[in-house]
Amino acid sequence: MALIVHKYGGTSMGSTERIRNVAKRVAKWARAGHQMVVVPSAMSGETNRLLGLAKELSPARSSDALLRELDMLASTGEQVSVGLLAIALQAEGLEAVSYAGWQVPVRTNSAYTKARIESIEDKKVRADLAAGKVVVITGFQGVDEKGNITTLGRGGSDTSAVAVAAAMQAAECLIYTDVDGVYTTDPRVVPEARRLSSVSFEEMLEMASMGSKVLQIRSVEFAGKYRVPLRVLSSFTPWDIPIEEEAHSGTLITFEEDEQMEQAVVSGIAFNRDEAKISVLGVPDKPGIAYTILGAVADANIEVDVIIQNISKDGKTDFSFTVHRNDYARTVDLLKTKVLPSLGTDQIEGDTRICKVSIVGIGMRSHVGIASKMFRALSEEGINIQMISTSEIKTSVVIDEKYMELAVRALHRAFDLDQPES
Ligand code: ADP
Ligand code: ASP
Ligand code: MG
Repeated sequence: MALIVHKYGGTSMGSTERIRNVAKRVAKWARAGHQMVVVPSAMSGETNRLLGLAKELSPARSSDALLRELDMLASTGEQVSVGLLAIALQAEGLEAVSYAGWQVPVRTNSAYTKARIESIEDKKVRADLAAGKVVVITGFQGVDEKGNITTLGRGGSDTSAVAVAAAMQAAECLIYTDVDGVYTTDPRVVPEARRLSSVSFEEMLEMASMGSKVLQIRSVEFAGKYRVPLRVLSSFTPWDIPIEEEAHSGTLITFEEDEQMEQAVVSGIAFNRDEAKISVLGVPDKPGIAYTILGAVADANIEVDVIIQNISKDGKTDFSFTVHRNDYARTVDLLKTKVLPSLGTDQIEGDTRICKVSIVGIGMRSHVGIASKMFRALSEEGINIQMISTSEIKTSVVIDEKYMELAVRALHRAFDLDQPES
């Protein structure tokens, strides 16, 4: 008998019929003797619907007060889900109890719409499990120290589930979703994408941070920090398949490199359409420029991703970087009003139609020429690279958004990712 955490995503919770299936699957695990904690997302489309309503009514300027209300609103989708799932579990003949984040409580900081989990109280949950109940906890939401409801950022139910698994020292955290595991790239973009039976934690971390939304990045960080055994698998298999078969399906996130296994040089390709590029032109090439520009951006709590500074000509240079598209207008506004005047330029250019495509693989550590192979594949398709950034196990390029699918497919082919695993 083990303590197991199941997480079900929005599509898996998308209708009463699907919720009934989730309940039947959870009941199968509970009847096999496991202690079950279940973390569901809002029903598919619900979070978007709620945030869409807010957008219709929002004031022109964002503020902490507005973000607080967005969390108050968006968190309700998950509250509906836990209630419905607990009811469906009771209909299966199980004892089940649901909790909102504040009831557990799942404590977070106060960074509304992107709060971080700080601690999870396990007492109440343990008592329920000991009493033979299935415990259903809202994904995505928490509570700050003043009692305000917070949310963990889009896709945050993954993080809720892994954090609950870490706090409860669960034997495993199973992330049930609408694909049957982690693929070499998004199977909805490249039909030839292949499921990986396992992927290393470091690769998963890079893939998630480079845009593969199959797992929210913070969930992978949590899994790494607390060594939570993590598996991504399908919620669309028949609910009554044997537990043993289900428990070994999907993709396992591994922590040690298996030395016997020949490592693929590139394991996966991620892409991200959520960024925008900003270039400040004709700034003086002298110490402190990067700090003047990016310091102001950081002070406004805006995250910067890829950065490049060109070589200078006549003592002037161009400085470009990317931010999240949601932060684009705010960043340009901030630079225009607060930063550019002190730099003696008013030239600023922006491009919101870019995307970032990344190749990821542990094997890149021990192989040379991988980046150049990437650049060749892109040049053969006539795709212009605007920015490049690298780390030990990934290379990313920023390109025109309209070439995204073409680039991902070309790279998938160039690195033989459609070939079966060796
Ligand atoms: P859930 O609602 O279950 O949390 P998400 O939509 O957040 O599901 O994540 C699953 C989706 O992630 C898949 O439907 C797929 O389109 C997308 N995806 C992106 N990259 C990958 C990848 N490398 N492997 C599998 N799925 C991926
Ligand atoms: N419902 C939230 C969202 O749509 C959280 C999640 O699904 O993980 O982002
Ligand atoms: Mg998700």
